[in-house]
Amino acid sequence: MPQTNRENGISPARLAPADVQANFSDLHPAYDEHEARVAADRCYFCHDAPCMTACPTSIDIPLFIRQIATGTSEAAAKTILDQNILGGMCARVCPTETLCEEVCVREIAEGKPVEIGRLQRHATDTLMAQGKHPFTRAASTGKTVAVVGAGPAGLACAHRLAMLGHDVVVFEARAKGGGLNEFGIAAYKSTNDFAQKELDWLLGIGGIDIRYDQPLGKSVTLDGLQSDFDAVFLGMGLTAVNALRLDGEDKENVTDAVDFIAELRQASDLSKLPVGRRVVVIGGGMTAIDAGVQAKLLGAEDVTIVYRRGQEAMAASKFEQDLAQQKGVTLICNATPVGIEGNGSLTGVTFAYTETQNGKLVTLDETFTLPADQLFKAIGQALGDIPDTLKIESGKITVDAAQKTNVAGVWAGGDCASGGDDLTVTAVAEGRDAAMDIHATLTGAS
Ligand SMILES: Cc1cc2nc3c(=O)[nH]c(=O)nc-3n(C[C@H](O)[C@H](O)[C@H](O)COP(=O)(O)OP(=O)(O)OC[C@H]3O[C@@H](n4cnc5c(N)ncnc54)[C@H](O)[C@@H]3O)c2cc1C
Ligand code: SF4
Repeated sequence: MPQTNRENGISPARLAPADVQANFSDLHPAYDEHEARVAADRCYFCHDAPCMTACPTSIDIPLFIRQIATGTSEAAAKTILDQNILGGMCARVCPTETLCEEVCVREIAEGKPVEIGRLQRHATDTLMAQGKHPFTRAASTGKTVAVVGAGPAGLACAHRLAMLGHDVVVFEARAKGGGLNEFGIAAYKSTNDFAQKELDWLLGIGGIDIRYDQPLGKSVTLDGLQSDFDAVFLGMGLTAVNALRLDGEDKENVTDAVDFIAELRQASDLSKLPVGRRVVVIGGGMTAIDAGVQAKLLGAEDVTIVYRRGQEAMAASKFEQDLAQQKGVTLICNATPVGIEGNGSLTGVTFAYTETQNGKLVTLDETFTLPADQLFKAIGQALGDIPDTLKIESGKITVDAAQKTNVAGVWAGGDCASGGDDLTVTAVAEGRDAAMDIHATLTGAS
């Protein structure tokens, strides 16, 4: 990674455009047909397959791998999409190392799982390249459903409802759909504008009208949606961010990691995106890793992720942690921020070491300061403003097993709802399951 710009502070063009382009190339490039068949041949097509149980959307994994092995990748795609309409994105972003591939019998026997994620991508890419939408709508039920948020949960819900014959209107706060698929997922996982292509392809079912720049709470209200539609699904994710609550947090170049990532995902030329020379990221989840890795790939010289607990407690998977380290990001654990330094602009961040004593995290007296000209906060997201009639538990909208909220006629799913793992695939599963329950409620079907 040759450095071309060593200026202090936030600066664009730290690397040559060709280096930036290479750095942000596809993390798991697609298989060609031959590679896919070879990878599929490693599957034992297990009865009671553990990989299938581990998939939050319960995709019939042995079936779709067999379909690839027999040269029918379009049928494989249909098997996947029957359960998970965003199977293309999930193939790119699922932490398979902690889901289906972790429990694959070949992982357990040989330490090398069948590459289920890449096979899923091969199948869905093959079908989507044909430009056809593989599902058709049932006869109209005459029912209408409002969906709030065009992220994975909202889109999965809208698609399933449209397929079942309902008319769906999606109210999206932003000017563009896809949710975090478009604004959050690391750029090297979703290349070539895949989130928008997948969204356009999904809308091929028909019966879904997306209205952009229509935030719930401003342009529309829950009461209004309840009176205008037969049912409402809330899939607005987590739009607020947690604060460090330290003096100096309002300094220039101290920003939320999610804002940096959103800006990066919308940049037309990554080589022009400004980044610090010495970057510190605070947090231990996927957002911290993605901010740190992408800052490094843009050309930041030193990137350090600092997490307050031990490495084993990080929410980011081992694969993500290893990726960060391979890309040259330093990881410091058991340290918590206690000061943001600099008269005027940011010059560093001071941390105190921590220790877990009797199950409690204790801040020790010993401190150290990391020089920094850019600080990203990645210490978690929270619900934005929501209608006060909704019941909340542990910071999320309370839902039952069918994704019903406490308000009659209102369902919720994805990151904004209780339960779940804050993963794309979980949001898809919850959106789909809510749609099935809405359908049963509206039509009396079981
Ligand atoms: C930086 C980052 C990286 C991630 N990386 C991964 C990954 O690699 N793999 C993975 O599986 N998961 C990842 N996740 C988690 C994953 O993106 C989320 O779990 C998933 O997007 C949740 O889907 P959702 O539909 O519930 O919410 P979102 O994707 O947040 O979508 C919510 C939608 O609702 C809209 N909205 C919000 N408020 C309103 C309102 N008031 N009115 C109308 N619309 C509204 C938003 O604009 C958005 O379009 C990552 C998350 C982040 C933050
Ligand atoms: S566990 Fe592994 S080998 Fe068995 S069906 Fe799933 S992918 Fe194939």
